[in-house]
Amino acid sequence: MSLIASNLQGVYRACAAAIAERSTRYSEPVNIVAVSKTKPADDIAAAFGAGQRVFGENYVQEGCEKIQTLRARGLSGIEWHLIGPLQTNKAKPTALNFDWVQSVDRLKIAEALSRHRIEAGLPRLNVLLQVNVSRELTKSGVSVDAVLAMADDISSLPGLQLRGLMSIVENTPDENELRTQFRTLRALFDTLAERMPSIDTLSMGMSGDFSIAIEEGATMVRIGSMIFGSRGATASYG
Ligand SMILES: *Cc1c(COP(=O)(O)O)cnc(C)c1O
Repeated sequence: MSLIASNLQGVYRACAAAIAERSTRYSEPVNIVAVSKTKPADDIAAAFGAGQRVFGENYVQEGCEKIQTLRARGLSGIEWHLIGPLQTNKAKPTALNFDWVQSVDRLKIAEALSRHRIEAGLPRLNVLLQVNVSRELTKSGVSVDAVLAMADDISSLPGLQLRGLMSIVENTPDENELRTQFRTLRALFDTLAERMPSIDTLSMGMSGDFSIAIEEGATMVRIGSMIFGSRGATASYG
């Protein structure tokens, strides 16, 4: 078995263990997004060979190149998620190539994605609203207070399907702080889900904290380095 395949098995096992640990309040399945940013198409093909079908990329151009490379190699049935910050001038290739965009945090971006999706005759693009729950100034995302109003606006766009919320919580070893932020997000997600039937996804938790995120009600986790190995000193995210 390849290293990536055995890493994936480890992630699947750890997720299953966290699902077994979580409160019975949470009954949704947990989807795993394999975050392949900065990694070559061959690594994605290895994870695909081990059964993984959902992948996340941070950069539009890098993602589009890999999507096309893997399509040309005949790998089909992959669900592609954009999870990195998005500028309006990249909305068109994003709308044409990705199946989900998790990093929507401005109405202007949402409108551009919706328009390009409709112009291309494609089905609604799945989107998540990114929330800045840790209130760090360097982080993208809308503030907790602004989520419900922004969700109302986005849900009226004909080319999009609002599926829920995404957040990058604070990078801290303080487990109580992590749990507080995850719980805030879950409460917000529950409020939104009561108002809108299309809401079914809460994307939170990465390699370092996904077990805690699942215990606190994540329905989707985004895992990079634990599957593909570290990205080296120059890689960054947020
Ligand atoms: C890079 C990245 C991840 C994965 O991070 P790991 O710590 O490598 O698991 C998840 N979400 C976002 C938004 C990222 O940019």
